[in-house]
Amino acid sequence: MNSSLKKPVIIAGAGPVGLLTALVLARQEVPVIVVEAEAALTRDLRAGTFHPPTQEIMQPLGITAKMLEIGIKVPRWQWRDRKEGLIVEWDLSLLKDDTPYPWRLHLEQHRLTPIIFELLQPMAHVQVRFSTRFEGVEQQGDGVRVRVTGPDGALTLDGAWLIGADGGRSQVRKSVDIEFEGFTWPERYVVISTTNDLARYGYASNAYIADPEEWIAVFHMPDAGPPGLWRMCCPVNSDLSEDEVLSDAYAQRMLRRFLPVAESMHVPYKSMYKVHQRVAKSFRRGRVLLAGDSAHVNNPLGGFGLNSGIHDAINLGAKLAEVMRGEADATLMDRYERQRRAVNIEYVQNVSIANKKALEEKDPARKQERADMLRATAADPIRAREYLLNSSMINSMRMANAIG
Ligand SMILES: Cc1cc2nc3c(=O)[nH]c(=O)nc-3n(C[C@H](O)[C@H](O)[C@H](O)COP(=O)(O)OP(=O)(O)OC[C@H]3O[C@@H](n4cnc5c(N)ncnc54)[C@H](O)[C@@H]3O)c2cc1C
Repeated sequence: MNSSLKKPVIIAGAGPVGLLTALVLARQEVPVIVVEAEAALTRDLRAGTFHPPTQEIMQPLGITAKMLEIGIKVPRWQWRDRKEGLIVEWDLSLLKDDTPYPWRLHLEQHRLTPIIFELLQPMAHVQVRFSTRFEGVEQQGDGVRVRVTGPDGALTLDGAWLIGADGGRSQVRKSVDIEFEGFTWPERYVVISTTNDLARYGYASNAYIADPEEWIAVFHMPDAGPPGLWRMCCPVNSDLSEDEVLSDAYAQRMLRRFLPVAESMHVPYKSMYKVHQRVAKSFRRGRVLLAGDSAHVNNPLGGFGLNSGIHDAINLGAKLAEVMRGEADATLMDRYERQRRAVNIEYVQNVSIANKKALEEKDPARKQERADMLRATAADPIRAREYLLNSSMINSMRMANAIG
């Protein structure tokens, strides 16, 4: 190991972003300690769509091939209207000269984290400490002193840098007083999964169904194996209690409102959550860096949240490894912030908000105008490719990399 690499980088959070950042650093010989509050990798149902550039940047790490073995390739996705039906079906093969992965890949986030965790196992210079909660940090001249509470009580860890990958409620972000600018949507979202095969009603494995009252986003997920699960996300505008919304009766009513099915459907998973659009005012404070949900959160329409967290992890890990090896000075980390924060505000926040507004458009004239625009775009291969370069995050990745 390079002798200049003495103190480890400490990462709070063993979610996908924390583990991936650890892997990028560890592959460059940087010693890493990851502290995770939970006793094991978390299994809650969250992100599940991986865009082409995300698959591309995880390929050299040995992750993408493993994901492809168990995930579902989604080469086409649809924009639909609840009354009119199909508006357009986008074909990602139009991107075949732009990416070796011209499809979205569906795989549950909790199936990605064990893949990364496994890759970390043989690396002696990486520790992942479960049941260890980040509490606070003091910055010193050339390092950080991190306070954690572990299975045996309070402990102090000395590190070179601290990375907050501890999710939307980030204690790291709070401990260095970085504001989380933005807002929270008034409605909640419910996610309902059924084993009923939606392909038989004409749905692609990913579809967005516009409706002024109750739009729906559909994702075919691999679950434990074929035939997988169809996950649907839609807004809850009423003040029904969580118990009422998560009841089987509510799920059946919601499914019947858009599926022509009379009998009761099997609904193995339901969850409900609040949705935010927020970006940290800064991604760096001295030797403390933020990545993933601790730095930015957005609504799930477009599948940008985890994808942009993965883009952060790879960008941050590569730059911090250079700094740790003495090949660049610490100001390189300001470039990480410039690149990733700008693209989050200009692309992820703006496009996810625009997607939500388009799905819930109430004005019939504007709705029609959008449907006409989408049909005309899809019918023209040049414009369709441009549209897909944006929606697949290829342009946003290029935009970030171009920022000096
Ligand atoms: C229902 C839902 C659907 C979504 N769908 C999509 C999608 O389709 N596509 C997409 O790209 N994104 C989606 N997202 C967003 C995506 O799940 C997040 O962007 C992603 O989880 C961020 O990963 P992360 O590693 O930054 O944070 P997290 O996954 O939240 O991981 C943070 C980790 O830090 C740990 N932690 C927290 N506090 C501490 C502490 N004090 N000390 C130590 N550890 C701590 C947590 O236990 C956790 O393991 C969705 C989110 C939700 C809720």
